[in-house]
Amino acid sequence: MNANVNANVDQAELLKFGELAAKWWDRDGPMRPLHDINPARLEWIERLTALAGRQVLDVGCGGGVLTEAMAQKGAAVLGIDLADKPLKVARLHALDSNARVEYRECAAESLAAERPASFDVVTCMEMLEHVPDPAQTVQACASLTRPGGWVFFSTINRNLKAFALAIVGAEYVLKLLPRGTHEYEKFLKPSELSKYARAAGLDVREVIGMQYNPFTKIATLGRDTDVNYLMACRKP
Ligand code: SAH
Repeated sequence: MNANVNANVDQAELLKFGELAAKWWDRDGPMRPLHDINPARLEWIERLTALAGRQVLDVGCGGGVLTEAMAQKGAAVLGIDLADKPLKVARLHALDSNARVEYRECAAESLAAERPASFDVVTCMEMLEHVPDPAQTVQACASLTRPGGWVFFSTINRNLKAFALAIVGAEYVLKLLPRGTHEYEKFLKPSELSKYARAAGLDVREVIGMQYNPFTKIATLGRDTDVNYLMACRKP
């Protein structure tokens, strides 16, 4: 909590994730959904672009669930986040798993100023719904990507069904996520995210829905973007 006072960050959100840090890699703990959705999102990224040998940036990496998985596919991955505890957990876990990852506590916006157009692939997953100005984050992700590179986002749609499933269902009924994890107002419609992406100079290549079955704990990708969805963009 220093240079970020006026930055695009909500300190209360960082605290929330800080409290969950110790349990980040507990597959049966509060972060379980991130572990459960990881294979599906990784497979989807690899269907659109190769990861092996690529320079990858994971924005809002948290404890490094996706970060490490991309490194295991042969990418050189830098994970950035503004919450220090999850980053500490991420570093510790990488030591244990020997993953080829690096972590830095910095904002996407400041890295964009420092290293513009330097990454082949930028991922920003389950993070946009936690920032005050998602358009600015999208812009930073675009700036960080080299021409021809890919940017992958995932977030939650904003409508009655998303409210019912992602908040009431997931946090209150099934208790898959801690209460207060998500705020309805911060959810983003695919049309809004596409608009931000285009404004940042990105081509939207694919929007795909993600269904998480809370009983089998399996995530599958498909047409239904009503609740969780992912968006692949390419920088011309
Ligand atoms: N992307 C990871 C973690 C998602 S949890 C995954 O999908 O597995 C959301 C993460 O976003 C948390 O680690 C939180 O600390 C981070 N975050 C929230 N606001 C942020 C901001 N303004 N800048 C960087 N990271 C942020």
